[in-house]
Amino acid sequence: MQCIVCDEGELTPMTYNWELRDGTAVYGLECYQCDLCGADPVMPDQIERNEVRIAEAKRLAAK
Ligand SMILES: [Zn+2]
Repeated sequence: MQCIVCDEGELTPMTYNWELRDGTAVYGLECYQCDLCGADPVMPDQIERNEVRIAEAKRLAAK
């Protein structure tokens, strides 16, 4: 997939870990990274899956 920021680089899917404001760690969130400009855009379908993971992490943390 072509980079939406620089229009030249190639976007590669990758995952990252995120810490919520309350300190809950969320693993395996999805984004893309451009091999040229280093942009890391998150596509709408990835955002949907990320939100599921965040909701799951919150649910587990609430126990
Ligand atoms: Zn780029």
